[in-house]
Amino acid sequence: MNEFGCSLLSCEGDEDREWTMDDYAGVLARWCPGCGDHAVLTAVERVLETEQLPPEQTVCVSGIGCASRFPHYLKTYGFHGIHGRALPVAMGVKLRRPELNVFVVMGDGDCCSIGAAHWIHTTRYNPDMVVLMLDNGVYGLTKNQTSPTSPRGLPSNTQPRGAFLPPMNPISATLGVSNASFVAQTGDWVPAHLYATILAAHRHRGFAFVRVLQRCPQYTTNLFDSAMRDPGLVELMVHPSGIMLPELDRIYKNQVRHDPADLHEAQRLANADGKIRLGVFYRNEELPVYEETRAVTSKSASEKVALLNKELDRHAV
Ligand code: SF4
Repeated sequence: MNEFGCSLLSCEGDEDREWTMDDYAGVLARWCPGCGDHAVLTAVERVLETEQLPPEQTVCVSGIGCASRFPHYLKTYGFHGIHGRALPVAMGVKLRRPELNVFVVMGDGDCCSIGAAHWIHTTRYNPDMVVLMLDNGVYGLTKNQTSPTSPRGLPSNTQPRGAFLPPMNPISATLGVSNASFVAQTGDWVPAHLYATILAAHRHRGFAFVRVLQRCPQYTTNLFDSAMRDPGLVELMVHPSGIMLPELDRIYKNQVRHDPADLHEAQRLANADGKIRLGVFYRNEELPVYEETRAVTSKSASEKVALLNKELDRHAV
């Protein structure tokens, strides 16, 4: 039983239990066959197992979109919210229960369009959580509309002659926010890299923003096809404090040694054209984490009431 008397995810007697991937599996995922979301779900389950995170101490929060079905597919606590509002919900969870492991899953429309203000400000607040932005360059759930990351010229139901604006770059946008502490990019078709990146994000202290380049065989079939077929189009950023995977060396020969402590180089790499870059762009564990700067849970309810009354008394007439 947890403090709310809920036995959905009982933790009684679980102290010595070893969690397996099956323990984290929720209902059968119903994304389209070949959808990159399946690979991301598996990687998240592997990370939960590696870290032995108790399901009742783990929360997955989402907004609206194909990717936002994540909480149904994980047997942890979850909140499938409304469009663009995953981050305010996750922030509320983290402020009330800072000890919980919070994972947020958003799509590109969810994060970069209606949720853009929350994305920017939560990056600055730097709460300790993992944010996976699954970017397939389209609104998939609502059947093919142009999103902020749709490549120029990509036809959709809303812009049938092709997207007419250049796409937003979510990595350079996040890197431009003050107090951004972890920014990484990976691809759903490189499972080892996907897993290692989500694991690094979880181990980071602060707001870990991971853009996952995600295949949508339904609407943006060819978006990452060339990068999948030709590893020469991909550049891995490698560093001991970022991602280092020797098993990928034979396949991905384009590698650049990038120290994630170097913000200016991270911004240069994020903006440099020509290659898809996978790895950790930036990481800084020394920045202020919001819930640690706010003593929201250190006072009891009666102490809070007493403080509120004291404050109101100051304005008594
Ligand atoms: Fe995945 Fe695209 Fe199908 Fe949505 S529409 S489930 S993103 S393949």
